[in-house]
Amino acid sequence: MTIAAALAEAQQVIGRLEARVLLRHVLQCDEAWLIAHGDDELTLAQSRNYGPLVARRAAGEPVAYLIGHREFYGREFVVTPAVLIPRPDTELLVELALQRLPANGGEVLDLGAGSGCIGVTIAAERPQYRVTLVDASAEALDVARGNAHRYAAANTTLLRSDWYAAVGDKQYDLIVSNPPYIASADAHLQHGDLRFEPRSALVSGDDGLNDLRRIVAGASVHLSPGGWLLCEHGHDQSQACTALLRGAGFGDVFSARDLAGIQRVSGGRLL
Ligand code: GLN
Repeated sequence: MTIAAALAEAQQVIGRLEARVLLRHVLQCDEAWLIAHGDDELTLAQSRNYGPLVARRAAGEPVAYLIGHREFYGREFVVTPAVLIPRPDTELLVELALQRLPANGGEVLDLGAGSGCIGVTIAAERPQYRVTLVDASAEALDVARGNAHRYAAANTTLLRSDWYAAVGDKQYDLIVSNPPYIASADAHLQHGDLRFEPRSALVSGDDGLNDLRRIVAGASVHLSPGGWLLCEHGHDQSQACTALLRGAGFGDVFSARDLAGIQRVSGGRLL
């Protein structure tokens, strides 16, 4: 079968864009090569790889898990089913963190690092900072470690910890987290990529706020004076999150909107 014929068949099932993404992955080529080689025959091995990938995508498996990576803030992050797939919304959290880091360097803590997309991006963008990436899952930490080595080997530290449990008494200039924040009965969990992502990365109790409560409550002893805590949260959680921050004594409390106009990140400063 030719490349053009394979694409034509697959695109009936999963659409044009994803048919091409998956074939580029199988052929390890870029889009320009694919366009130029429509008449080339696929080898038997290539067709045998491509067919099952198309079928798995048609059955709902996320593209990022099938090809093993996802772009975030201009870098390719390795992802496996042990970690949440990085979302464009989370780039807002990175932007807000970068804006708040003092110029001369310091210490950053990424809680629930998953793939490491947040902490590794901050470390790569700001080599003068040391970033500690924490996750409770050993499998997730392996993924984060690989991404850290690729982009920010010199200034990242990886630590297995249930939130602050193993963090110690170092004080950080900024704590950042995209914790699980979905309510356990939320219908979104039955749709799209979420069905395949780790439940521990998504769900946080009946109201989705269990982990945010723990992160906010524990932050002050791990922050240096004037240090920031920034957290991503659900579309309807900014009031709850800013109330938690004020209740824990944070000042300069704010929420910020993502690309879709939704209040997606809240933060505050230890006064
Ligand atoms: N920090 C990672 C991310 O933002 C993982 C977040 C999570 O698993 N909840 O993608």
